[in-house]
Amino acid sequence: MAAKKAWEGFSKGLVEEVQKWGSMKQTGVSLRYMMKFGSRPTARNLLISAQFLHKELPIRIARRAIELQSLPYGLSLKPAVIKVRDWYLDSFRDLRSFTDIKDKSDELDFTQMIKMIKVRHNNVVPMMALGVQQLKKDMNPKTDYGNLEEIHQFLDRFYMSRIGIRMLIGQHVALHDPNPTPDIVGYIHTKMSPVEVATHASEDARSICLREYGRAPDVNIYGDPNFKFPRYVPPHLHLMVFELVKNSLRAVQERYMDSDKVPPPVRIIVADGLEDVTIKVSDEGGGIPRSGLPRIFTYLYSTAKNPLDEQSDMDLETVTTMAGYGYGLPISRLYAKYFGGDLQIISMEGYGTDAYLHLSRLGDSQEPLP
Ligand code: ATP
Ligand code: MG
Repeated sequence: MAAKKAWEGFSKGLVEEVQKWGSMKQTGVSLRYMMKFGSRPTARNLLISAQFLHKELPIRIARRAIELQSLPYGLSLKPAVIKVRDWYLDSFRDLRSFTDIKDKSDELDFTQMIKMIKVRHNNVVPMMALGVQQLKKDMNPKTDYGNLEEIHQFLDRFYMSRIGIRMLIGQHVALHDPNPTPDIVGYIHTKMSPVEVATHASEDARSICLREYGRAPDVNIYGDPNFKFPRYVPPHLHLMVFELVKNSLRAVQERYMDSDKVPPPVRIIVADGLEDVTIKVSDEGGGIPRSGLPRIFTYLYSTAKNPLDEQSDMDLETVTTMAGYGYGLPISRLYAKYFGGDLQIISMEGYGTDAYLHLSRLGDSQEPLP
């Protein structure tokens, strides 16, 4: 019912077209393939890449638009979700109304267009978070989060797909860089130093902590700074380490706020294995109670401001940047999984938390295609 109602106001033609493309098979690519292909950005390769995206992007986007229409608990009808759905439909229309890509000039026009699509979708994550927030507001405060499993799984698919779409567009656009930097193929760095990226991400997290609390525990990084990861996307690693360090700093800071003791540093260890590069972020911030663990990877759980607490003030203005919607961990795990890695959290309540970020060294795994 809700799904039908939500499609109201759209032409039958568009709805049918979305349905048709949304049922076509998606094609994934691996990090290794993206790199191999992108290392020779000849006019011919760029044309092939654009033709691939011209076919692939509408499939991926249509799938998401359809899902956005059929969410449970009336989530599809929340104004923020409708807005997101409209961005997807607009992008689908833009892609479908672009005729064949036959030569260099078509290719450049197409590249310009997908660049705009990427910008249009910049705020999808906070907008969806707002939609979920709107839904939570109407729900019975006693609602068990277990019941929202369906929404959680949808968001996992939705954000994973978004990571892939943005990677593909970003990679294609970046290959047009007239002055490519050595060791960088589009978004992919072939000599990324995880220690260096972790250092920058920690500095960023610390400066937010400083701003928020007036102080920030130290972050010590252990590992060979000269070790280079053969292929990875530095902004992805930056984001993941930034989120983990932010969580650790917050936990330590909250625990030591009223104490005279010097807060123990957050420790990051970078290990270089044959299969994986693993980055451990370790803190003595008191850990997470075991009962809370199943929820930390959901998009609906954060101890920063508990939406189940009727007393809590939902004023968006006061939302802190140290911790907000409860998106840090689930989104970071998606980024890790996108290139075949994973993220695990081990807690010792009363002591601290260890986050293990595993990144696959080989880059052979295909994109997960929800
Ligand atoms: P944000 O979206 O800003 O990251 P958040 O930090 O609340 O908000 P997550 O990063 O997903 O969201 O973490 C979810 C919850 O898990 C946190 O609110 C906190 O209760 C708990 N948590 C995560 N990391 C730690 C940690 N290192 N120590 C203690 N608790 C943690
Ligand atoms: Mg967080």
